[in-house]
Amino acid sequence: RVVVAGSFNQDFVWRVPRFNAPGQTQLGSFASGPGGKGSNQAIACARLGVTTTFIGALGEDAIAQQAIALMQAEGVDARWEGHPTLASGSAAIWIDAAGQNMIVVDPGANLALSAAHVEAQREAIAAARVVLTQHEIHPDATRRTLELAGEAGALRIHNPAPDVPADAAAPLALVDVLTPNESEFAALLRAHCGLDIDPDALHALADAELHALCRRLPPPSLVLTLGARGAFVSHADAGQDGGPCHRVPARAVDATDTTGAGDAFNGGLAVALAEGRAFADAVRFATAVAALQVQRPGAALAMPLRDEVERLQAE
Ligand code: ADP
Repeated sequence: RVVVAGSFNQDFVWRVPRFNAPGQTQLGSFASGPGGKGSNQAIACARLGVTTTFIGALGEDAIAQQAIALMQAEGVDARWEGHPTLASGSAAIWIDAAGQNMIVVDPGANLALSAAHVEAQREAIAAARVVLTQHEIHPDATRRTLELAGEAGALRIHNPAPDVPADAAAPLALVDVLTPNESEFAALLRAHCGLDIDPDALHALADAELHALCRRLPPPSLVLTLGARGAFVSHADAGQDGGPCHRVPARAVDATDTTGAGDAFNGGLAVALAEGRAFADAVRFATAVAALQVQRPGAALAMPLRDEVERLQAE
């Protein structure tokens, strides 16, 4: 079993020729779909065929009803905390003709997810092989999830996304596997080590240099995702499968929408590690999951099924 504690947001997406100027009205095309990193990752796990529990929070509104129905349809065992006076999480997203986006997020109930509600799911956490967290809920809830997972001996994967101020970030000492992208990695190096590194400059580093930077952060294993450049894996334990560090290239695919690529990757990694795969193999599995996801529009609803991943890996 995998337990994901995290956010649910309904995404409201408008495609426009160009971004509005203040006071301007224009026509655009609209679509709405489920998002939120926690929920995306939980759906990724469930579609990959693993028993998945999701711990999250909702208001009492139309978004909440959609979220409850979605998790049921996806076969996710969702443990919602209800907050009648708060709105469910939402994101307004504008995408221009060049594919750039402008986003406003109201975390709403997500930030009210309590440590007590996490505590009430103690049994599910104790039954998990892997527990997966991100940065879109109240930090106390994330901390409690990681603490309970540690007590239960579950593997703790933390995706430090999005960037948040240090006081809202998860305690890295409680994390076994950290999965930042480039900008999140640079932000963590700044917060924890006072290093000022431009995320783009990471691409020019040799493996040994990147490995040394990874080792400045507490988690014993780190998977740095590099978009179309793939992933860099670093372990404190040189005896890990794949050696102390190695790269896993992304698959060459026609990426049409990379929203949720990191979520697909994290879901894939969690499932593969929960199934007991060796680490390097788990990263290859996660890479295949993400490669399928980026070829389809949307976030959660673009997550691939187990069969699709196995077919791709068999090619
Ligand atoms: P995030 O969405 O969190 O910023 P990344 O952009 O680093 O995460 O993507 C996560 C993973 O998804 C990458 O390591 C890679 O395996 C896969 N991926 C992302 N973009 C592409 C792409 N254009 N083509 C193929 N795979 C991709």
